[in-house]
Amino acid sequence: MEHLLSAWPAVVRRVRDCRRILLLSDYDGTLSPIVERPEMATMPREIKVLLERLARHQGFQVGIISGRALNDLKERVGIEGITYAGNHGLEIQGPGLAFVNPLAEEMKPLLHLLHCVLNSTLTAIRGTLVENKGLSLTVHYRQVDESKMEDVRRAVDSVVAASRAVGKIRTTNGKKVYEVRPAVDWDKGKAIELLLARHARKGKLAPLPIFLGDDATDEDGFKVVQRNGGISVLIGEKGASSGASYCLSSVAEVGRFLELLGECKRRPNSEPY
Ligand SMILES: [Mg+2]
Repeated sequence: MEHLLSAWPAVVRRVRDCRRILLLSDYDGTLSPIVERPEMATMPREIKVLLERLARHQGFQVGIISGRALNDLKERVGIEGITYAGNHGLEIQGPGLAFVNPLAEEMKPLLHLLHCVLNSTLTAIRGTLVENKGLSLTVHYRQVDESKMEDVRRAVDSVVAASRAVGKIRTTNGKKVYEVRPAVDWDKGKAIELLLARHARKGKLAPLPIFLGDDATDEDGFKVVQRNGGISVLIGEKGASSGASYCLSSVAEVGRFLELLGECKRRPNSEPY
C-alpha cells in the first residue's frame, strides 16, 4: 500500500487520461474526523468547499456512501446534486436515482423490535448508544469504559442471536461500533456496482472509480473499485491490512487529495469535456 500523496505523480496521469471520474467517499473518519459522539461529527468547511467544486465539474460525479441513515447523511453533507448512499448502500438517492433494497425494507419491523430490546438491555452499561437507522442499527460503545466493552459484545450477541441464527440479520464490527444489518446480499461494494452499471446502461464510457474509506465495511467497496480498475484509498495507517491500494493518514490529507484532483482536471490538456 502506497501513500497516495507520495504516489501522486503516477496517479495524476490516470486521473488526467480518463474522461470522467466517479468519486465516492465514506463520511465518518474519511470526510469528517471521528468524534466521541456520532451526532457531533461534522465535515470541515474546506472539505465541503472542495467537494462542491468537484461536484460542479463536468468531469466528476460525486457520491457519499455511509453507514448512516440516508437523511442524516444528506443533512450532514448538505451538497446539492450529488449521490447519497445511506445504510451501507441499502438506500440510494441521486440525480435520477431513488433506490431502496426491497428485502432490507421488509426487515424494518424486526430491526425496530431489536432496537427496543437492545436499548433496554444496554441501559445497564453506561456510555452505550443504540441508533435506529431504519434499515439498520448501530450500537456505539466509544464512550464505554474499557472494562465493560466485553459486556457490550455479549449483550448485543444475546439479543441478536435468534434473528441471526435464522438468517434474518447479520452483524459487522466497525470502529467502536457493532452494526446490526439485514442479512441481504448487499454492501457498499454492491452500491458502487449499481452506480457503475448506470453509466454502462447510458452507453457512456466507463468512468474511473475512486473510493475513499476508513473502516471494515469500506473493504467491500475497495474490492469492487479494484476490480473495475479504479483507485481505492484507505484513510489510516500505511501498514493496515486492507484491500485498498493507497492510503492517506488523515481527513486533512483527504482535503489535499481533493484539491489535487480539482487542480489536475483544470489544466488545458484534460479537455475536452
Ligand atoms: Mg467511516
